Amino acid sequence: MLAIEDFRTKLLAQRRELFRQAAQTEADLLWLEPDVEREPMERGQTETMVRLLDRLDERAKREIEAIDLALTRIGTGSYGRCEGCGNDIPVARLQALPIATTCLACGEAGEALKR
Ligand SMILES: [Zn+2]
Repeated sequence: MLAIEDFRTKLLAQRRELFRQAAQTEADLLWLEPDVEREPMERGQTETMVRLLDRLDERAKREIEAIDLALTRIGTGSYGRCEGCGNDIPVARLQALPIATTCLACGEAGEALKR
């Protein structure tokens, strides 16, 4: 049984940490505060996010994209299922790499294809 909430918390913390690296002003940091109630689609906050994304390097951007994808998958209930073979991704792999979308075998097959 997957503790989805644990992974969600972990992913959100990881995402916030990446944005924090790009935050330069107090307003940016405030935007990152997890306890502040906010509408995610509010215009000003989206602009802050775009601005912060702009300061991040490619690696961090890709990581945030991967985290967003994982969060989306949690939302749709497909989190923890391998995109390659459709089997459950072993929990140990998800714990080591919460953004994983494939099992180890399919992940390695995908890496091999990229080379
Ligand atoms: Zn697989």
